[in-house]
Amino acid sequence: MAEIRLEGVVKRFGKVVAVDHVDLSIKDGEFFVLLGPSGCGKTTTLRLIAGLEYPDEGRILIDGEDVTFKDPKDRNVAMVFQNYALYPHMSVFDNIAFTLHLRRKEMGLTKDDIRRRVIEVAKLLRIEDLLDRKPGQLSGGQQQRVALARALVRRPKVWLMDEPLSNLDALLRLAMRAELKKLQKDLKITTVYVTHDQAEAMSMADRIAVMNKGRVVQVGTPEEVYMRPKHTFVATFIGAPPMNLVECDVESVGEDLWISCPGFSRRVPEEARSVIESKGVRKIYLGIRPEFISVSRRETEGSIAGKVYVVEPLGSEYVVNVDIGDGIIIKAKVLGLREKMTPGDKVYLKLDWSKVKIFDYRTGEALA
Ligand code: ATP
Repeated sequence: MAEIRLEGVVKRFGKVVAVDHVDLSIKDGEFFVLLGPSGCGKTTTLRLIAGLEYPDEGRILIDGEDVTFKDPKDRNVAMVFQNYALYPHMSVFDNIAFTLHLRRKEMGLTKDDIRRRVIEVAKLLRIEDLLDRKPGQLSGGQQQRVALARALVRRPKVWLMDEPLSNLDALLRLAMRAELKKLQKDLKITTVYVTHDQAEAMSMADRIAVMNKGRVVQVGTPEEVYMRPKHTFVATFIGAPPMNLVECDVESVGEDLWISCPGFSRRVPEEARSVIESKGVRKIYLGIRPEFISVSRRETEGSIAGKVYVVEPLGSEYVVNVDIGDGIIIKAKVLGLREKMTPGDKVYLKLDWSKVKIFDYRTGEALA
């Protein structure tokens, strides 16, 4: 069992509030990802859980026990950092085996057990041919995998990982993501994983906490944060390309409320009406993901006219950038192009209105 709770945690460095009233509840056995841009407080949050920093306010609990001011060694966590420090005079094998040797007696392990575990993890991370080398004889990516192996070889209550795959090439990174996730699921060790890479977060996490400026903006499954972002920050940080956001006005037309956008307008959807009225919202961002927009050469009812700005091929898909006037570019992601489209071509966009999100222009918060 290892649940982790952060309650009202604040960490300041001088005037910088690195972690600003963070509440998190991480479940036993969960693969939990902290995601956000550089400087948003992910690493500091992880270091607070590890015991490498102490908070200025709030509490940290592991399995209900208050560990806020406990030493790292008394928390039963294993950590991997972006800046891994390997013991330069030891072989790769000994680097990985080191903590197991230290705790051999208390863990009841024989030398053979240790050897078996080291080789098992080394195979998984594809470094089994490097076990006799010294760290100085390894590439950056190989060193990073040795650092990861050193944490994975242990079976603590909690794994804490800070961008552990950042130095690997794209292909190896994809492979390691899958191996790491599989191992975590097999062993059910509660894992907190820091990354700024939204694709990595989406592919590995059971749940993601999206952070910005020291705060947690949203916690949810990958599907929830993708399909139901609570804030424009989440809508644009997650997804490639990100959600389209168009500034629109809310106008009263007789008894009705209408959304008036550059080039098109539409009645406010029923589910958004009461919240827009009660908050007195007059300006919104209309949000739609690129895959919920179709592009056609033919005008149909309710379609939005525009001109192709540029087409970006992604392999199996295309991103068509369409200029709908007033300097607004809408990105549509389409599976195939029936006809070739070139910049300047006149086209019509059709939005899937069931997938449209509405955000308060002032606060960025989702209204529907
Ligand atoms: P990155 O992805 O770039 O590693 P991050 O989201 O992990 O960023 P943190 O490293 O947690 O962000 O930093 C959060 C804020 O706290 C930043 O403004 C950073 O400059 C500041 N900070 C972090 N550690 C210290 C420190 N030891 N002293 C002073 N300021 C710090």
